[in-house]
Amino acid sequence: MKRTYLQRDKKKGTYATLLRMTSEVGEMLDAVLRNDLPQIHAEAADVLAWLCSACNLLSVDLEKAFLNKYGNGCPRCCQVPCACKGP
Ligand SMILES: [Zn+2]
Repeated sequence: MKRTYLQRDKKKGTYATLLRMTSEVGEMLDAVLRNDLPQIHAEAADVLAWLCSACNLLSVDLEKAFLNKYGNGCPRCCQVPCACKGP
């Protein structure tokens, strides 16, 4: 994503990039509500792409941040699968 879009994303800016990501989340929800499986896949990819773009602008290593928090299972109970109470 950095090689493909970083220059364009810098022009767009962090706030607009995050706003676009939230818009893609809404589009994914619409696809889920329509049970449109191909579109669900497409929108999931878009959500991740815009999150990657935002992280690039914020100098966040997304893989490292994700693994740091979730790499050993649930960050609250430290179990795999999660053993926390509730849904
Ligand atoms: Zn848990």
